[in-house]
Amino acid sequence: MHSEERAKQVEDELLGRIYTALRDGGLDAEPVLELASLLEEWGESTPATQEILERPAAHLTAADLTRLGESLLRDANFEPSFALEPRLWATLEHALEVVKRDVRAGGITSTLRLVTHDWDSRGRAWVEFQGGYHGNGIDAIAGCSAQGALGEVADAVQETFMGMILKVWPVCATHGRGLHAGYEHRMAVWRCTGDGTHTVAPVGELP
Ligand SMILES: [Zn+2]
Repeated sequence: MHSEERAKQVEDELLGRIYTALRDGGLDAEPVLELASLLEEWGESTPATQEILERPAAHLTAADLTRLGESLLRDANFEPSFALEPRLWATLEHALEVVKRDVRAGGITSTLRLVTHDWDSRGRAWVEFQGGYHGNGIDAIAGCSAQGALGEVADAVQETFMGMILKVWPVCATHGRGLHAGYEHRMAVWRCTGDGTHTVAPVGELP
């Protein structure tokens, strides 16, 4: 494995340990110190890494570790993976079930499912249809809100259909145009750009 890739993997493992410990309790100094040393070594110094390395480890209280651990996660723009937070995957699965209602309403007989791919170092979810997929994949963090997940999954299903069967779906019955997923009052909806913009239905409730 390329050394840069290996370094990224070590960093991700340590961030994952810190995240899990902050969530479940019991963060100890070890992963915090190890990550801070590595980041300093790689020239990615931050106020948090400096503070961690300047202070004797024995002087770091639980409150200090929590604060510094949170800083390390924030500075790294850390987002939990499906493996760390299985509920994120469950939320996307549920969203796909809702979007499938619209697929059926559009007359497409589908075997849609969510998959991950070994080659995808970002660990995204992909909507698979007839053994293929298309588009950009869905980041795990999309599963942290039910409505956010609906919008993202609706987009992904649309991209996959477009790429796999060259079919515009769904279509506005009034204007004959392709609909796009958007949000109205924080609810995922299908919108049409015909005659100005109008909302056709919430995602999952297409006629
Ligand atoms: Zn329309």
